[in-house]
Amino acid sequence: MSLSGLCQVCESREAKHTCTQCGTAVCDEHFDRTSGLCVRCADTSGKRDVSPTTDEVDEDDFHRI
Ligand SMILES: [Zn+2]
Ligand SMILES: [Zn+2]
Repeated sequence: MSLSGLCQVCESREAKHTCTQCGTAVCDEHFDRTSGLCVRCADTSGKRDVSPTTDEVDEDDFHRI
């Protein structure tokens, strides 16, 4: 009895791990051991929302002298 499953990311290697978050079977290459997540989950864990680009600090620099 063996896990006849391929990595859901590359679909070319044998899945040896299972993501603890989404349950996706992934191979060694696409598994993050430190977090126990697949690369997909590990990738978005750091930055969930893209902060809006509201940087308006340039105006202050003009009045340096
Ligand atoms: Zn893979
Ligand atoms: Zn995952």
